[in-house]
Amino acid sequence: MLTKVISQADIDHVEKWFERAEKIVIVSHVSPDGDAIGSSLGLYHFLNTQEKTVNVIVPNAFPDFLRWMPGAKDVIVYNRYKEFADKLLNEADVICCLDFNVLSRIDEMEEAVKNSPARKMMIDHHLYPGDFCQIVISHPEISSTSELIFRLICQLGNFSDISKEGAECIYTGMMTDTGGFTYNSNDREIYFIISELLSKGIDKDDIYRRVFNTYSEGRLRLMGYVLYDKMEIYPDFNAALIWLTRGEQKRFQYSKGDTEGFVNIPLSVKNVCFSAFLREDTEKDMIKVSLRSVGSFPCNKVASEFFNGGGHLNASGGEFYGTMDEAIERFKQALKAYQDLLLAKK
Ligand code: 5GP
Ligand code: MN
Repeated sequence: MLTKVISQADIDHVEKWFERAEKIVIVSHVSPDGDAIGSSLGLYHFLNTQEKTVNVIVPNAFPDFLRWMPGAKDVIVYNRYKEFADKLLNEADVICCLDFNVLSRIDEMEEAVKNSPARKMMIDHHLYPGDFCQIVISHPEISSTSELIFRLICQLGNFSDISKEGAECIYTGMMTDTGGFTYNSNDREIYFIISELLSKGIDKDDIYRRVFNTYSEGRLRLMGYVLYDKMEIYPDFNAALIWLTRGEQKRFQYSKGDTEGFVNIPLSVKNVCFSAFLREDTEKDMIKVSLRSVGSFPCNKVASEFFNGGGHLNASGGEFYGTMDEAIERFKQALKAYQDLLLAKK
């Protein structure tokens, strides 16, 4: 049996909205990751069984290693089909906002979602939910939004309506947001849910391979280069940094998603409990910042204080507007500001 994590009042509310709605639009955050796409498509497959008109819209393209997901071809990319997407958002009865807590996380879609007359619900696991939705299902203690979608469907009494395709999407999001169940994954109910998803016929080993072992040759060579030449360890701070310029990305035929997971690698060095990855963005004039930690070090605080961002205790990110040298300098300032915490026992 699963704990009823979502309040009965929220479940009743969602049930009423879904019952009455004809057109439902699901939206998720910019640079969608496995959990963004997994939760969106998990809900998409479920709502399709309820005979609703459902569309999934994300702000920009998602990486190749998520394209195999059932329904991925139906996902509308906002910066390619803006007019069509604007129409769908404007005509929706309900908009489900998945895996993000503030409107700025949906980039160019912000205005269209904000101004749509649709009722809005948030289903998310980031701290500090904003107040742009009438229903807010926010559970930072749950490791993925995809898990929340599973719980929502079950609490609605619709477990039997989860198809194999839907289960594959939910599993993918749960798996990617926990690094293949290597962090944020000590809740035993996760494994009960996996067992339930397996009962739908998913092949979890195959999903792992599709997501984590189908990279390009360029990514592997870039990884080699980065580890040899671009990784700095700061033993006085138990920290590490990797940075990449646009030129370097071009040299290795960078394509979206190629640097996924790089930020985690330095955490496998003894004593390193905080890792940062700075990458000059190829679409926007900014440096994308990814932060990871192990133990109790709050990398989301560093993200919000130093890099205009936020996120979870152990996985956060932000943006930096300036040169790479300035971004590195800012990172070093953060190390100094947090030196005591970084050196504290894990
Ligand atoms: P990643 O490093 O995988 O891009 O992001 C890890 C986590 O950090 C995301 O799940 C999200 O919670 C948070 N995050 C990443 N970038 C940003 C950002 O620009 N702003 C905020 N508020 N959070 C971010
Ligand atoms: Mn997530």
